[in-house]
Amino acid sequence: KQYSSYYLQAYTFFMSNPALIDGFGRQITYVRLSVTDRCDFRCVYCMSEDMVFLPRQQILSLEELYRVGRVLVSLGVSKIRLTGGEPLVRQNIVWLVEKLASLQGLKELTLTTNGSQLARLAKPLKEAGLSRINISLDSLQEDRFRDMTRTGKLSEVLEGIEAAQQAGFQHIKLNSVILKGKNDDEILDLVNFIRQNQLDIAFIEEMPLGVITEHQRAETYISNDQVRHSIDQFYPLTAVSESTGGPARYYHMNDSNSRVGFISPHSHNFCGSCNRVRVTAEGRLLLCLGNEHSADLKAPLRDFPNDDQPLIDTLFNALPLKPEKHHFDLNDEPQIVRFMNMTGG
Ligand code: SAM
Ligand code: SF4
Repeated sequence: KQYSSYYLQAYTFFMSNPALIDGFGRQITYVRLSVTDRCDFRCVYCMSEDMVFLPRQQILSLEELYRVGRVLVSLGVSKIRLTGGEPLVRQNIVWLVEKLASLQGLKELTLTTNGSQLARLAKPLKEAGLSRINISLDSLQEDRFRDMTRTGKLSEVLEGIEAAQQAGFQHIKLNSVILKGKNDDEILDLVNFIRQNQLDIAFIEEMPLGVITEHQRAETYISNDQVRHSIDQFYPLTAVSESTGGPARYYHMNDSNSRVGFISPHSHNFCGSCNRVRVTAEGRLLLCLGNEHSADLKAPLRDFPNDDQPLIDTLFNALPLKPEKHHFDLNDEPQIVRFMNMTGG
């Protein structure tokens, strides 16, 4: 009798607090939501020069994106990161931020951006309830910045960083992809920049997503262990014990509050503790960055505009597809045909 009342309580608890738990016991609490595949930059490691973007009707509307967010939060997701493409080129993005930020149960709403629109949007985004911002920056040299982004202007991004600080965003983090022979001589410059401007930084190893022609990925690969070593010689790094809930491993410098992180999909696989899934701009649920396993959320969204249950069923049915880990090989043809702007980095 005691047992049956225990099971009844557990069953009732689960029915009123359903959670997204995958086949390896990992609970999904973090979703990266791509709001567009479009972008005003064409970063050499992310896109080809002549990208073809999705037709507008294939992209989820802002209302549909909100609905996905609302349902995920009702299933225990506590952190949403908006990404893309460039999320800030999506019209009315501030509306979506305001709607998502007001969801009960969502603890953090964050954004990854190239920073080009922040001078204009940082303040409205802060007022709409955005919690934190990551800004991608791979070079502090105007010409090189232009080369790496193909279309970007460094001064606009620097103004964007300043606008974000003035708007009151704390713990702004830069994301830098380091490519050997392209910007590996700027590792220390980037660290000095974050130290001077009270920012954090995460160095990201390049991932083989999509076929690019501009460089051979195996030749530009530099492991984060090498990046860390070159910083450690100037600024000794001490590992931070607490986890941020993301894939980065963070370090302190003893004379600065800025933190240095490393996202190392090649050299230190972070899958064991993966609590994340991604939703692409066209409503594909991606269970893993490094695999094609996915489920279509657009059909239940559009076929059942007034009933969330089919969407919830699709989410639960997709969970067993989440693989235990990814495997990247830079010398093989890319296994993943989608570009990072499709995946939502
Ligand atoms: N446009 C925004 C930006 O650049 O921050 C958000 C989307 S972008 C795809 C997200 C992050 O993915 C950026 O920090 C970018 O540097 C990174 N990224 C893009 N392609 C990558 C690749 N092939 N390997 C590793 N990181 C990549
Ligand atoms: Fe655009 Fe971001 Fe990809 Fe660069 S990394 S092309 S900014 S989506």
